[in-house]
Amino acid sequence: MRLDRIVHSIANLWRRQVLWKKLSFCLICMTIFPLVLTMEIAEYKGEKVLTRIVLNHNRDIVERTAEDIDQMFSGKIKTLRIAVNTAEIKSMLPDRQSALLKTITDADADIQIAIVADSEGHQISRSDGRITDGEITYRDRYYFQKIKQIGETVVSDVLIAKSTGYPGIVIAEPIKDEHQQLVGVLIVNVKLQGIVDLINRSQIGQTGYAYLVNEDGHILWHPHPDRGMIERSEDVSSFAPVKAVMEKQTGLLEYEYKNKKRLAAFSYIPRTRWRLIVQQPIEEALADVSDIKRTTLMITLLATTLASLIAIAVTGMMTKPIIEISKAAGRLAKGNLNARSRVTTSDELGQLAVTFNSMADELCARTSALQESEEKYRSLVENINIGIYREIGDAKSFIAYANPALVEMLGYGSAEELLAIPVSARFWSMEDLAAVHGRIEQTGMVKNKEVRLRQKDGTPLWCSITAVKHYDHQKDGFCIDGVVKDITESKLAAEKLHQAHAELERKVAERTRELTILNEKLSQISLQDALTSIANRRYFDEFLGREWQRAKREQTSIALILMDVDFFKLYNDNYGHIAGDECLRKIAGALQKSVKRATDLVARYGGEEFAVILPDTDQAGAVRVGERILIQVRALALRTEMSPINEFVTVSLGIAATIPADNLTPDMMVMATDQALYQAKHSGRNQLQLASII
Ligand code: GH3
Ligand code: MG
Ligand code: MG
Repeated sequence: MRLDRIVHSIANLWRRQVLWKKLSFCLICMTIFPLVLTMEIAEYKGEKVLTRIVLNHNRDIVERTAEDIDQMFSGKIKTLRIAVNTAEIKSMLPDRQSALLKTITDADADIQIAIVADSEGHQISRSDGRITDGEITYRDRYYFQKIKQIGETVVSDVLIAKSTGYPGIVIAEPIKDEHQQLVGVLIVNVKLQGIVDLINRSQIGQTGYAYLVNEDGHILWHPHPDRGMIERSEDVSSFAPVKAVMEKQTGLLEYEYKNKKRLAAFSYIPRTRWRLIVQQPIEEALADVSDIKRTTLMITLLATTLASLIAIAVTGMMTKPIIEISKAAGRLAKGNLNARSRVTTSDELGQLAVTFNSMADELCARTSALQESEEKYRSLVENINIGIYREIGDAKSFIAYANPALVEMLGYGSAEELLAIPVSARFWSMEDLAAVHGRIEQTGMVKNKEVRLRQKDGTPLWCSITAVKHYDHQKDGFCIDGVVKDITESKLAAEKLHQAHAELERKVAERTRELTILNEKLSQISLQDALTSIANRRYFDEFLGREWQRAKREQTSIALILMDVDFFKLYNDNYGHIAGDECLRKIAGALQKSVKRATDLVARYGGEEFAVILPDTDQAGAVRVGERILIQVRALALRTEMSPINEFVTVSLGIAATIPADNLTPDMMVMATDQALYQAKHSGRNQLQLASII
C-alpha cells in the first residue's frame, strides 16, 4: 500500500515535469547508470584481484621469513650437536669445555653465551670465561626439565637469560656418554634480536606487522612492547589468525580486528614449533585500489557532470522547437491568430513547426470566413421578419436569445425585457406550452405547431412554431432553436373562410332541398298524366318492365288490361273537347275504383285508351278486374246520344295474363292484349276479350 502511494506520487511528480527535464533526466540516467555500473564492476574485480595478490605476497613473505628462522635454528642446532659429540664437551671438564664453548660464541654473533650444566643442572663451564658459579642451577628451567624428559634438543620460548639478563632463546642440547646416558646439557642463549631482524625484514606496509606465537597460542614476540615477551604475553589462542595457524600451520586469512578488516598470512616454523603471523589492515593493502577508486570516482563524476551538461544542452536543443510550437499553440489558443512558431531546423520538429504554421494560417482563414458568415447570419437574423429564438435547458428556463422581430411581435420594448420572462410564462396556456415542449421532448423537434403566445399586454397571439432541440458543445447542454411566425392574419382569414364556407354550405343545402322538391315535382310531372292525374305512358312502360322482370324472377303470373272508349270521336264531336276531357277524367276515376291492390297500376295509355297492370294476377283475376271496370264505367252513366250501341258511354277491354317465359317480352304481351281489344271492338264493343296467343 505504501509502495503504491510512493509509485503514485513519483508518477505524479513525473507527469508535472516539463519535457526537457524528463528528457534530460532520462539521458543523464542512461549515461550515469552504465558508468557507475562499470566503475563498480571494475572496483569489485580490482579489489578481488588485488586482495589475492596482497595475500599471496604476504604468504610469500611469511613463508620465507619462517624458513629463514627455521634455517637459523637448524644451523645452530647442527653446531651444538657437533659440539656435544666432541671429546672436550664429553669430558665434562670445565677447562676443556670453556675453550670450545668460546669458539661457539665467537663463530656465531647471535649466540650470546654457551654454558654446560651437569645432569643435575649445576653450571659446569661457560663461554665468557667468567668463573662458573656452582650455585647457579638450571633445574627449575622448563627446557632443562624437558630435555631430561625427552633426551633431545629443546628450543625454549623467549626468556630473559639468567646469565645475561637479556631476552633470548635457549637452545639446549643433551650431552650423552657412550652409553647414551645424559651427563650434561649444552645451553646456548641466542639473541632475540637476530630473530627480530629476520622478522622485521618481513615488515609489510606502514601499519602491517609480523609477530610470533608459540605452540600454546601465547605471543612470543610482538612489535608492540606491551604485548611482547613471553613472561607477560597474553593468551591469543582464540584470536582468529592464531586459531587458524594452530589448525592449518600455513595459510591465508581475512578477518576483522578492532573494527578493521585485515589480511593475514601465517606459517609454521618446524624446529621451534612457533608460528609466524603477518597481518596488514585491508585498507592499507588496498590503498592502491582506493586510489584507483578515487580516481575512477573523480572521472565518473566529471564524466557524469559533462554528460549531464551535454544531456541538458541536447535536450534543450531538441525541445526548443517543441517549446516554441507549444508557446505558439498557447498564444493561438488564447485567441492570438497571428501566433506562429519559428522554424529553426529542417528535421521532423522543423516540419512540425511548418505544419503548425500552416494549420494556424488555415485557422486564420477559416476564422475570418466564419466571422464573415456569422456576420451575414447575424444580419439576417436581426433583420428578418420572422421571430427567432434560442432556449437553454427545459421549459422552466429562460430564453437565451430573441431576435428583434420576436421582441416586436410579442410587444416588448427590448430583448432584455423578453429574456427576463420564463419560457413557461411566454405561452398563453399550459396546453400551448405542452404542445410545443411535449413534442420536442418526445421527438426532438416540432414543426409548424400553431399555438398562442402571451404578449406583453397579456393578450394571446396566434403563432406557428418550428423548433429543434440539439446539443450545444460549447455550453455542454441541450438547447432549442426555433422560429416563430405570426399567423394572426392567416388565422383571421381562415376564420372568415370557414364562416364563408359554412354559409355556402347552408345555402347549398337549402338549394338542394328546393331542388329536391322541384325534382320530385318534376319527376311526378314526367310520370303523371296531366289530364287525369293517373300514371302516364312513360310510367306505364317503366312499371311494366319492372314488374315483368319480377314476375319472371319469381315465376308469378302478371296480367294486363287495355281499355278503349267506344265511339269517343262521336262523343267529342257532339259535346266538345272540354266535355270529352271531363269524360276521360271520370273514366280514369272509375278505373282506379276498379283495382283493389296497392301494387296494381292504372295508366293513361294514350288518347282515350287506358291500361291496367296487375302484378301477381292470373287470367281469372284479371277478368274479374275487367268486369269490375265495365260495371264501374256503366255506373258512371255518362250519357251519349251519338253512340249506336248504348245511351251511355261504354268501353271495350282486351285482357292477357301470363307467367313470363324466356321467349316472351312485355311488348309481345302488349300486342296480344291490343289484339284482344281489337277483338272486343269487332265483337260489338262494351265487352271484354281474352288474348288467345299467350
Ligand atoms: P271506336 O269505337 O272504334 O273506338 O270509335 P271512336 O270514335 O272512338 O274511334 P277512335 O278511337 O278512332 O277515335 C278517337 C277519338 O277520341 C278521336 C278524338 O276526337 C278523341 N280523343 C282522343 N284523345 C282525346 C282527348 O284527349 N280529349 C278529347 N276530348 N277527345 C279525345
Ligand atoms: Mg281509340
Ligand atoms: Mg274509341
